[in-house]
Amino acid sequence: MRKTAIITGAGRGIGAEIAYRLSADGFNVALNDLNAEALAETAMKCKDFGITAACFPADVSSHDACEKMVKSIKENFGTIDVLVNNAGITRDGLLARMSEENYDLVVAVNQKSVFNMMKHVSAVMMKQRSGRIINVSSVAGLHGNAGQFNYSASKAAVIGMTKSAAKELGARGIAVNAIAPGFIQTPMTDALTDEQKAAILNLIAMKRYGTVDEIAGLVSFLAGKDSAYITGQVIEISGGLTI
Ligand code: NAP
Repeated sequence: MRKTAIITGAGRGIGAEIAYRLSADGFNVALNDLNAEALAETAMKCKDFGITAACFPADVSSHDACEKMVKSIKENFGTIDVLVNNAGITRDGLLARMSEENYDLVVAVNQKSVFNMMKHVSAVMMKQRSGRIINVSSVAGLHGNAGQFNYSASKAAVIGMTKSAAKELGARGIAVNAIAPGFIQTPMTDALTDEQKAAILNLIAMKRYGTVDEIAGLVSFLAGKDSAYITGQVIEISGGLTI
């Protein structure tokens, strides 16, 4: 029987590429995003790999919406074997100028969503006594980043949640890891100014941005059989941004 992977924020960017890669690996995929149209496009491409793909448009910052979505995925697919918490946003600004609204929004989408999804999915995985959870954090969560006070807070929290859940769920055969990408070429980083991009490139040992398929490859490894004994880890994938 095929295994099932949930990918949040799968409408574009890193999430869409993870969906393609896990489909190529033979997973059935349950795809989430706010944008139902973009999600349908991702699903169509996933189906080219001969697997089952279904769309679950929902706002992952809503606890109720996540509960309903996970229930529906379980009913549709029977099992939930992999959860990739990828959905995320930025509302960048310096601490001194940051509005409460932008702080709360980024924490809700990037951090609370991980609680929402892990709470409901881990209940299913605990009964199955197996599962993999992969949380997409960021180098900003590991090292901080000026101008990303809210984003760094949310991504650092994801690392704490990952380690705590790994300790709580390990005995049930569930591995929980985080990945911390550096600068990856996606619509999120396209929004940076040319000056910001040049300054960042200068700091990266490999002198290039990462690509979405490089992130998807790491997720594929963490979802696959070769990583069965890895849990509670944060794997940085940044081309040597912080060495
Ligand atoms: P992206 O291109 O902006 O894609 C993010 C996706 O998440 C979008 O499709 C977006 O939908 C969706 N989304 C946003 N809010 C949502 C919500 N409340 N519920 C469900 N879906 C929602 O970003 P990306 O660059 O692929 O980033 C993916 C993840 O990697 C994020 O967690 C990001 O923080 C992390 N990351 C990215 C980089 C990078 O350099 N790109 C570096 C480190 C970490 P809409 O289109 O409707 O907004």
